[in-house]
Amino acid sequence: MTQPIVSFSVAAASAAIAGSATRFPVRRIFCIGRNYAEHAAEMGASVDRGNPVFFCKPADALVADGADIPYPSATRELHHEVEMVIALHSGGVYITEADALTHVFGYAVGLDLTRRDLQAIAKAKGMPWDTAKAFDHSAPLSAIRTASEIGHPQSAALTLEINGAMRQQADIAQMIFSVPEILARLSRLFELKAGDLVFTGTPAGVGPLMRGDAVQARLAGVAELRCRIA
Ligand code: MN
Repeated sequence: MTQPIVSFSVAAASAAIAGSATRFPVRRIFCIGRNYAEHAAEMGASVDRGNPVFFCKPADALVADGADIPYPSATRELHHEVEMVIALHSGGVYITEADALTHVFGYAVGLDLTRRDLQAIAKAKGMPWDTAKAFDHSAPLSAIRTASEIGHPQSAALTLEINGAMRQQADIAQMIFSVPEILARLSRLFELKAGDLVFTGTPAGVGPLMRGDAVQARLAGVAELRCRIA
């Protein structure tokens, strides 16, 4: 029997590390929803502390700092969600809150880009969120700042500007589920491993992005991300 011919290779996803030529290999991208009370309220959702909302994006949805993002197909309502992102250098199952930060390699700022119109349809019909959340180029990400350099920030301004106008402004101290709580909860559902990223939810002020918009996301003292909607 002849061997099948595989004449292609698949690039492994990775992220930049600030101040380093070394890349962070990315395994999976997890996201939590409804993690700031005012954002849950603006979406008409209630926060259930017993059941955090988790979803995933594919690793190849990452977009590097400075890159253009093509306006996605099949939507007329592309929304920005600025979020702190956790990068893990180890993992496990049933991680305790007390141990959780030992697994954190560093932190970044990212965008959980969302086809809001498709998400609204999915919510109304009780359908999955994949087409609303996990599309190509849906995860712009800054370089990762290592925890060995900056520690584990408990409070930092999280902001998003479009064409120089402030659209989202909050502090990560306002998160409903803290970083240790998120990792503990998520590790009951998935085995977390080195290379995993976790988007930690967006504050209020989400809204539309248009072609040509210049977007600047910042987690003060941690990271900055610039991109343009093409
Ligand atoms: Mn989000």
